[in-house]
Amino acid sequence: MIDKKIVKLINEQINKEFFSAYLYLDMANYYADKGLVGYENWFKVQAQEEMAHAMLFRQYLINNGYAVESPAIGAPSMKYADNKAPLLEALKHEQYVTASINTIYEQASLLKDYRTLQFLDWFIMEQGEEEMNAEENIQKFDLFGSDAKGLYLLDRELATRVFTAPSLVL
Ligand code: MG
Repeated sequence: MIDKKIVKLINEQINKEFFSAYLYLDMANYYADKGLVGYENWFKVQAQEEMAHAMLFRQYLINNGYAVESPAIGAPSMKYADNKAPLLEALKHEQYVTASINTIYEQASLLKDYRTLQFLDWFIMEQGEEEMNAEENIQKFDLFGSDAKGLYLLDRELATRVFTAPSLVL
């Protein structure tokens, strides 16, 4: 049995993951508009990852016999001033998601909900990776993104990213 509080938090997390997908798709759209198809690709893949995260949380509730809620997904309202702005926003967003998952972990810990803690372990590690990737994108942009040639090569590198399904299987 999973406490109502945890079920509610996980339902909210599903919505946050879908919002993340929508936010990253919005960033992909920004880069598509600028003709930076590598950055567009990178964020499109990121959006796919976020949907996969949402589906894992969903499956966890289903597997344990709890109802999944489907409230409206917020609209990304970001207007980006320049090509670096989405990268900064992406890092901020991942830090927010990390805090959100940490909150569920904390609650599960208080309630001695070992099943949920074990499920969340994968996400705790995953958030480390997400923040690292976001920081790497900013660092690379700072190093190479300021001249046209550097930006061209960076964009080409990001064009190679492909979606791989999460290693966690439920
Ligand atoms: Mg996520």
